[in-house]
Amino acid sequence: MGEPEDAATRRAIAPVICYPVEDLPQPDLQLYQTARLRAQKTDEVLVDPREASMFHAPAGHFFRITSVEGPQVGDFNLWNAQDLSERFYSGKTRALHGTHLTVGDRMWSSFPNMRPMATIIEDTLGWYGIDAFGGSVHDVIGTRCDPYTGNLLTGSQYHHCCHSNLTRALADHLEIPRVEAEPMIHDVLNVFMCTGFTRDTGQYFMKASPVRPGDYLEFFAEIDLLGGLSACPGGDCSSEHSSDAAACYPLLVEVFEPPVGALGEWCSPGPNGYDGSHGAT
Ligand SMILES: [Zn+2]
Repeated sequence: MGEPEDAATRRAIAPVICYPVEDLPQPDLQLYQTARLRAQKTDEVLVDPREASMFHAPAGHFFRITSVEGPQVGDFNLWNAQDLSERFYSGKTRALHGTHLTVGDRMWSSFPNMRPMATIIEDTLGWYGIDAFGGSVHDVIGTRCDPYTGNLLTGSQYHHCCHSNLTRALADHLEIPRVEAEPMIHDVLNVFMCTGFTRDTGQYFMKASPVRPGDYLEFFAEIDLLGGLSACPGGDCSSEHSSDAAACYPLLVEVFEPPVGALGEWCSPGPNGYDGSHGAT
């Protein structure tokens, strides 16, 4: 089939932003950032290379993910600590905030709660913007590296993809069998990863992350959170993942508690206001 006569006209139609982010409830970033200045560290976890670790961040606390020792990306899962069926929804977060997250953007949870789980308050890679290839950092367009895709592509049996690392870490943390933990692993926020879609073929690409030791991404926990972070076997993701070939480094997670009263009138967001009836009578 050839092109219709009006193909150029149809292609020339200007796009419309699906979800104007200004219409969402806006976080009070200044309140968060001011409260953070007086917050005290309460916990820290060092995530080993090619492994994952879990951490808790209570509602109203802050948590920071830092690159230490060398350039390293992290595959990040987030759950409501009180109800693990509520988890990070990367697809909806992407629809709301775009392909990559930075300060002021939020990690949204799955239906039916669909509320902000965490708000990004600092990003030392915020300067990167969008490069000439269309790449940027902290994406919500990738999934998580997993052994199934590797098997399809190369027949491999690789056990330290982020999906497997997160599965083991969650199973150990909850003291449940791995087969029960695995379905709770979900698509991630790719912390520090530099990715995009090729302009000519629309394919997902990665390139060496601009992250350097000392760079960090910091969040405010809107609800009680259980986090899972995997130090990706891809390292800085400059060449490949799903193997032990890349240089890998740890990632540091730190949790901070602000003083009582520092958050003023802030209260943890409730579940989504939709009535859940779906038109049934
Ligand atoms: Zn990974």
